[in-house]
Amino acid sequence: MTKASAPVSVPHHYAIALGSNRLHARHGRPGAIIAAAIEAMAALGIGITRLSPTIQSAPIGPAHRRFANAAALITTPLDPPALLALLKAIEYDFGRRTAQRWGDRVLDLDIILWSGGAWNSRSLTIPHPHWRTRDFVLEPLSAIAPHWRDPVSGRRVRHWQAISQKGRI
Ligand code: ATP
Ligand code: CA
Ligand code: CA
Repeated sequence: MTKASAPVSVPHHYAIALGSNRLHARHGRPGAIIAAAIEAMAALGIGITRLSPTIQSAPIGPAHRRFANAAALITTPLDPPALLALLKAIEYDFGRRTAQRWGDRVLDLDIILWSGGAWNSRSLTIPHPHWRTRDFVLEPLSAIAPHWRDPVSGRRVRHWQAISQKGRI
């Protein structure tokens, strides 16, 4: 006779991009806000496997101030919609209220890749639709996960990073 076993929640792996270009009353400058956001994720039970150095990038679109950007590899049993909800709650907790896409924001947390391959729903697309052409995502991400394979193109992170660097010459 086989024993019934309790369901085991399998941890998923995610690559997260973090960005900030506004001051926070308590945490201060964007670099410190990113560090505090990592602590907030850890306090909510998310495993932080790797954290990239924080870089500075120029504002795009309607944003005005320079951004601090970083990437993190995390583990959690949460599925993508549940993780997105948690990341949005952290953004809100850090004072983010603006819904303006690409605008100034105290904290932006995007899901770039996950271990489950591609995910497409109305409110969530993984891989993130623009990460392959964004230096401010590729640079920190390639520092911590150069070999992670994009499930859509089959190319690795370091491939997209190399292409983006070539385009800058
Ligand atoms: P971009 O998505 O181009 O980086 P943004 O980060 O400024 O722009 P937001 O206003 O933060 O955009 O998010 C808009 C919506 O994008 C979110 O409400 C969320 O539902 C959706 N979204 C879709 N895919 C993702 C993803 N991979 N990570 C985070 N949000 C996503
Ligand atoms: Ca974003
Ligand atoms: Ca976002």
